[in-house]
Formats: sequence, C-alpha cells, structure tokens
Amino acid sequence: MAHSRSAQIPLGPPIPHGGYDPLRHHTAPGVLAVEPTVGPAAADLLAAAAVVELIRPYHGVLVHGDMNGDLGIAVSGGAPRPDLTMVSVAAALEAAGRTVRVRDENAHAGPAPAAARPPDLRMVKMQLATWRDDVRYVEQLRAAEPDVPVLMFGAVVTYLPGIDPGLAVRGDATRAVSDVLGSERLLVGAAYRLFPVDLYCDERGRPLLHLQASRGCDRTCRYCPYIRIHGRWSGRRLDELADDIRRLDDLGVHRIQFRDQDFPSDPGHAIEAAHVVAEASQNRMRWAVEGNLDRFTAPVLEALRTGGCDEIIIGIESTDPKVLRAARRRTLADLAERISAVVESGLNVRGLFIVGLPEDDWERLAATVRDALDLPLHAAHFSVYSPLPGESFGTRDTVRVEDIEPHVNFYRYPTCEAMTESEVRLAASLADRVFIAHRAGDPSWRELLAQITRAAAHSSTLRAARPAP
Ligand code: SF4
Repeated sequence: MAHSRSAQIPLGPPIPHGGYDPLRHHTAPGVLAVEPTVGPAAADLLAAAAVVELIRPYHGVLVHGDMNGDLGIAVSGGAPRPDLTMVSVAAALEAAGRTVRVRDENAHAGPAPAAARPPDLRMVKMQLATWRDDVRYVEQLRAAEPDVPVLMFGAVVTYLPGIDPGLAVRGDATRAVSDVLGSERLLVGAAYRLFPVDLYCDERGRPLLHLQASRGCDRTCRYCPYIRIHGRWSGRRLDELADDIRRLDDLGVHRIQFRDQDFPSDPGHAIEAAHVVAEASQNRMRWAVEGNLDRFTAPVLEALRTGGCDEIIIGIESTDPKVLRAARRRTLADLAERISAVVESGLNVRGLFIVGLPEDDWERLAATVRDALDLPLHAAHFSVYSPLPGESFGTRDTVRVEDIEPHVNFYRYPTCEAMTESEVRLAASLADRVFIAHRAGDPSWRELLAQITRAAAHSSTLRAARPAP
C-alpha cells in the first residue's frame, strides 16, 4: 500500500533516545537496572553493515516476545503477536539508512522464506522460554555461514551464560541500537511493512499490532519485569505516534494493543495520545491500553473513550493487602469503586492477577478469586509468579536463567512459604477456570471454586497443627 498521506506528515525536530524521553533508572532497593549497551564488535558490525536481517526463531512454542519486560511469554494456542522490540529495532536500523529484512519464524510457526543473497549482518531475538534453543540456533547460523556475523538481542541476553559479550546487545535493544547508530526518529508504523502483519491477531482472530506511546513506570513493584530495562516513565514523541497510526491505517489494521507499562502515568500525555490516535486514524482505530487504575482519571477516561479505546488492562495481582505490601504494590481501598467508574465511562476492564507472590496462600487466593467474581471485570487472567534472572524476591537463592524451565515461563523452585510451585500452578489454573466459567454462566464455577476453598481449609488445618517455631 502506498504511504502518500504519511509522506506529507511534517515531523518535528529530531530528539535522541529513539523518540523517547531519556532513560532514567530507578534507584529503589531490589530494582535491577540494566543499561542498554551494544558490545564493541557488535557496534563495529552495525556501523559497517548495509543489509541487516532480523530473525525471531521458532522452537515449537509460540512466544509473545515483547511481553514480560521483553523476556517474552510462552503461550499455548492462540495467534502470534508482533514483537514490538524487533519492529522498533527495524525502525532504528532504517532510520540509520540500513536495509532491513525480517524472518519472523515464531509468527510462521516454522521456517520463514530467506532472501537468495545473504545479508551483511544477522540479529537474532532471544527469549527467556527458549533461550537454550535460541543459543544453539545462533551457533548453527554462525557455523553454517561464518562470513555473516550474528548478534543476539533481547532482554534475556544480559543473563545468558557463556556467550560472546562483544556480539551481544543488552537491555533495551531499541535504545541500544538507536544510540549506537544515532537513530533519532523511529517510524515504527512504517517498519511494520517488513513483517508478516497478516499473521498477528488477537484472541478473537482480529488483526492486531502493538505500539507504544510511552515506556517504563514510576512505581517499583518487586516482581516487575519491565522497570529493569525501561526504568521510570518516559513519554514518546506524539508526532511519531501519529505517523505510526497513519501507516497502520494504510496497512488496513485498525486494532492496536498499546504496550506501554503505564499509559496514563502523565495524564496530559495520555489525553494528547488519545486525540492523536483518533485524528490520525479518522476514528477508525480501536485500541487497548495498560496502566495503573488510579491514574485513569475522569478526563483521561473521557479522552480514551472518545479516542477509540475500548479496553483498559490493569494489574490487580491480589486483593490481599499483606501480599501487595510485601510486593511493594500500591493498595487501593476503593478498588471496586474505581473499576466501576471505568466501566460506567464505557470501557471494558481486564484484570490481571498473580498467584504465588511471597505472602500468598490458598486462603488469600480464595478471597481474591471471590473478589474478582464480584468486580465488574469483563475478563481476568491469573498468572504464576515467576521471578526473573537476577531476582531474589521470594526465592532462597538468586535466580539464574538455568532455573527457568524450558519452553514455559516457570521458575522451578518455590516462591512462597505456604504453597509449593506445583500448588501455585494448580491454583492459578483453577482461578482462571473459575472466572471463565462464572462469566460464561457455566455452573461448574461453583465446584471449581470449592476446590480452591477446600485447599484453603486444608492448608489452614495443616498450619494450625504445625508446632510453633
Ligand atoms: S505498576 Fe506495573 S509496570 Fe509499574 S512497577 Fe508495578 S508492575 Fe511494573
């Protein structure tokens, strides 16, 4: 599709950092800040290459690559999602005058067609769930074509044992590559033309692409995978976002998941971003955002609704104050009122919960599930707490990348005293099934909830019978 309208967009003067405010790391205890860096040999190769091939491998498991702080989440079933980090790196390379080719094998669930002529340089996106296979894949590429160097990028690279640091891009690859090449404008929407856009869909099979209007978050939850590489909240240039929206409109894609960690962190920026999406798409775009519930003020909600947003996604994690306080998560005494206000403004609310945080137990989970059923959420998801490499929150030893089980997102050891790791996985699965059955009007939710309640009663009996320490 031609980009005639997009070509007329006047973009303002460039700013560094790939179009975002400068990266500011947190200094709170326990936040593991990772600097975006490019290894010395990698920097020379990036400077010399004219044609760069980006590859996201596939090893039998679908990975939503830009989630979980760019470490990726392995999913069973469903449609592929774009990897916004990879698309943004493509934009950073194009901004520096490189020709970019893309092989998104994860989206194809198998080999993607390769060009007849080899590139000057390959960059492989590495993922936490498949890092062992990804490392082997890079070794095979290097052995098969020794004249074509291969770099590794992705948040997991920082934690990989035995790799050549000179050929690694660490931390936030978008900033790292932008900084080393001096890429000042990231036309992410334009870069999507290089990707198999038709394959990226939401859970209902509708075409869906990822964008960002900001990065990072000013809060410091102990389990957060994002703030270690994105730091505090930083806004993106909105003229570049407008360009992205027009490009997606040109591609015929009218659904966006904003992958901001806290879209409404700066209410003025959020309101302007909502106006930009509506104007640039002539109100054709429908979109979802993630953010902290208490930041969705009435003016922000009004701008989102009129701008085409139809869903906000909020982290609730648990409704137990002790679990939240231990995780340095802000507690909201008026959680139900705030969610009701969002629903009354015309938006759906999806709640995200975590099972297995350090103070969690069966009783607290049972109470959280009952609360979730009572809240006006249109969807909910209960995930397993899995501490990340370098983390020690809820773990006996500092987590190593080897402690993550292959092809899933699970840390293999306990994370809370009251539940084993297999209990946590069972509990999260039961909680998901309770919510889905309840919302579908399927009476089996009562028996599923009873299983959680029985486990809670059993564990409380065991605790009472345990001798005092
Ligand atoms: S509010 Fe969300 S994005 Fe912000 S620190 Fe907590 S978990 Fe991370």
